[in-house]
Amino acid sequence: ASSIYPFGGTVRSDDPRSRDKTIVGGKGANLAEMAGIGLPVPPGFTITTEECVRYLAHGADFSPELKDEVAVALRHIEQAAGKKFGDAADPLLVSVRSGARVSMPGMMDTVLNLGLNDETVQGLASASGDARFAWDSYRRFIQMYSDVVLGLDHHLFEDVLEIAKEDNGFYADVEMQAENWQAIVGEYKAIVRSELGRDFPQDPHEQLWGAIRAVFDSWDSDRAKVYRRLNDIPGDWGTAVNVQAMVFGNMGDTSATGVAFTRDPATGERAYYGEWLVNAQGEDVVAGIRTPQYLTLAAREKAGAKPLSMEEAMPAAYAELAAVFDLLEKHYRDMQDIEFTVERGHLWMLQTRSGKRTAKAALRMAVEMVEEGLIDEKTAICRIDPMALDQLLHPTLDPDAPRDVLGSGLPASPGAASGAIVLDADTAEKRAERGDAVILVRVETSPEDIHGMHAARGILTARGGMTSHAAVVARGMGRPCVSGASCVSIDMASRTLKIGSRELAEGDVITLDGSTGQIMAGKVPTIEPELVGHFGVLMEWADRHRRMKVRTNAETPDDCRTARGFGAEGVGLCRTEHMFFEESRISAVRQMILAEDEAGRRAALAKLLPEQRADFHSIFEVMAGLPVTVRLLDPPLHEFLPHADAEFEELSEAIGIGVPTLKRRAGELHEFNPMLGHRGCRLGITFPEIYEMQVRALFEAACDVAQTGDAPVPEVMIPLVATRKELEILKALVDRTAAQVFEEKGRTISYQVGTMIELPRAALMAGEIAEVGEFFSFGTNDLTQTTLGLSRDDSAKFLSAYVEQGIFARDPFVSLDIEGVGQLVGLAAERGRETRPDIKLGICGEHGGDPASIAFCEGQGLDYVSASPYRVPIARLAAAQAAI
Ligand code: ADP
Ligand code: MG
Ligand code: MG
Repeated sequence: ASSIYPFGGTVRSDDPRSRDKTIVGGKGANLAEMAGIGLPVPPGFTITTEECVRYLAHGADFSPELKDEVAVALRHIEQAAGKKFGDAADPLLVSVRSGARVSMPGMMDTVLNLGLNDETVQGLASASGDARFAWDSYRRFIQMYSDVVLGLDHHLFEDVLEIAKEDNGFYADVEMQAENWQAIVGEYKAIVRSELGRDFPQDPHEQLWGAIRAVFDSWDSDRAKVYRRLNDIPGDWGTAVNVQAMVFGNMGDTSATGVAFTRDPATGERAYYGEWLVNAQGEDVVAGIRTPQYLTLAAREKAGAKPLSMEEAMPAAYAELAAVFDLLEKHYRDMQDIEFTVERGHLWMLQTRSGKRTAKAALRMAVEMVEEGLIDEKTAICRIDPMALDQLLHPTLDPDAPRDVLGSGLPASPGAASGAIVLDADTAEKRAERGDAVILVRVETSPEDIHGMHAARGILTARGGMTSHAAVVARGMGRPCVSGASCVSIDMASRTLKIGSRELAEGDVITLDGSTGQIMAGKVPTIEPELVGHFGVLMEWADRHRRMKVRTNAETPDDCRTARGFGAEGVGLCRTEHMFFEESRISAVRQMILAEDEAGRRAALAKLLPEQRADFHSIFEVMAGLPVTVRLLDPPLHEFLPHADAEFEELSEAIGIGVPTLKRRAGELHEFNPMLGHRGCRLGITFPEIYEMQVRALFEAACDVAQTGDAPVPEVMIPLVATRKELEILKALVDRTAAQVFEEKGRTISYQVGTMIELPRAALMAGEIAEVGEFFSFGTNDLTQTTLGLSRDDSAKFLSAYVEQGIFARDPFVSLDIEGVGQLVGLAAERGRETRPDIKLGICGEHGGDPASIAFCEGQGLDYVSASPYRVPIARLAAAQAAI
């Protein structure tokens, strides 16, 4: 198979590899696709990702055939462009661009204007009739090449340019004339010579191979690795290299460059959205050197901006561009993110891809595209990343709360965030590790800031537009972002800043509203989100297409209410111990634990009974008519014990037992390995009166609620069962107690008794256990812990190293270890069904809210997944995607 694919010109390839993202990368595939449908794409060729993987595996060595293949492909460009690479009279220039399978914004740098040297720059000047343009291109090339390929610090070059502008009394780059640029080129070459001890490479072929090498090498750069780790991108994909004839947006006032989205990536509105700059090249628009102009008249008017929109300034090229937008949307059936250049009035397409978007925009676009007939419901459902919904499920700023507005910038990525100001990425990461909420405030961001942006709750930049690095990355990460806030000025030396007229320092708390661009002092209160509008519509569609039910893990009426609002169809896990930890009850709980005998325990339990009954009552009321799985007490008893002397004294006072006795009892309860100790059903076996109290409270509450309204459907769940006998004993206890309550209340309620499957033995013996248990709920947190022999509470220290070294693809406590733990789940489900065909199966571990794990559960035919309240909509969507 070929390692190079040409595109553009007269190329008409029907080799599917030429458009396969895995082979030619996303950028290459889309360039070939656009050229194929007849759009104006400068001719070029793509070196495959396979070649990159091979190159890196062979210690940075190209395959022997590559030289010849590049030479042939270069001739294709020369023919199509009608110019020769290295020609002194009218040189062909090329760009060298990276492009992995998925876009990795800013990770791999592009080199433009390659092929220029002291000789060809003269040819470019005379052939174009524009010396300023030629020297501007040359200086850009030297700087980019020196940065990306030769590894020189770009500041060296920027400083020289700043000084030159100052010396000439210029404010902007556009004021620089041909001779100014020529002088800059001289200085740039001198920098290279003094830094490297050799001259800037003059041979275009040497330049080209240096750039190709740099693109391949950049796949293994630290920046790229960080991005891959944060985004779960495998390290063995490699990147393709695109070599493409240059077109020039910097050829004077009839030339321009720009970026655009076919719909608004922040709101999803069906309106072209973009930015452009006259007489500019490549990254100028996103680099924040000049403030870009609006693409459309409507957007310019809405913003009240003066500089003409492209629609007004270049109506012909704009009309052509708008037609291309429509064509591309129809072709790809998705919102496109586009890069284009106008060279002397002539439009060229340089890139298209499915655009990154906020969750809100994704929902709106998906729903509207179904209405427009562009896609069907299933496609719409599958297009939304369930985890991205997280952005919408968190509280937004309370519109009625007072706001102390400091200033504002562009609403670059929606959502609200409050936190302490930090001024650099490393500090952001450090403070976030300590659990602080931080807002990263920068003049502008660059790829080196990614880790800090990830750690921050929100991002604020002084410079840069809606398509700046900060804006694009923040939207991708789902972080609120306000960009281009010119009211912000930062003084790094004193680590202080001014926002508007107010002086602030690093550490001060601010609030960002990424939906409006407002920056506020202090923390502004927030309100709960609602599933309305496009979100609501999409969730309805998801519900139509999913098979599994979605429940929630909740133990307070508030959480139950939130979850029900988000569409929970029951409680999959109500952890009763959470109720025990409450301040007002802890002394009764302690009295129970420390009692010397059953009588003492019963006295304490009598105090807890009404409290626990009240808890269940309020939960059952909220969940009326729905199943509620109540897990009986699970944690090791000593977790409830007092620690400090003062706590012992307080307790002694409250329950009338001497401190020495209490301390002795506490000592007796100490365990070396509490996770494998006296917990779960082992408590119920040894102290049945505890479970009796809980079961009584539960059924009394259920009967009371049933008296006035819909009865809940209690499912009593016995934790940490390893044997059939344990379950048998405890089920008898539940049935006995329930019968007593029913008799006292004169009312019967249907219920089930089942167990958690959270020990490997339970999974293996599921066939036997199902003879007693009427349902299984996979407690995958403990099942992961016990199967891997990996302590949930201690593994954080080394798990990240395990993930980094690829031992685990993902943290097994976050995403189910399908290969290992998954086998136990599958086996238990199968054996359980063999014994009891209608056994109800669910999952209630943390994994119940993880899309990959949910897909696995669908494959196993589980009846439901249970997730924390804010993950319920995520689970609904993921369950639908798994079923489609
Ligand atoms: P990135 O992946 O960072 O967006 P690109 O390879 O798309 O990098 O290049 C960045 C910018 O450089 C493009 O948006 C475009 O404006 C400019 N560019 C790249 N190739 C060419 C070319 N052949 N002619 C003109 N401009 C180009
Ligand atoms: Mg870029
Ligand atoms: Mg690009």
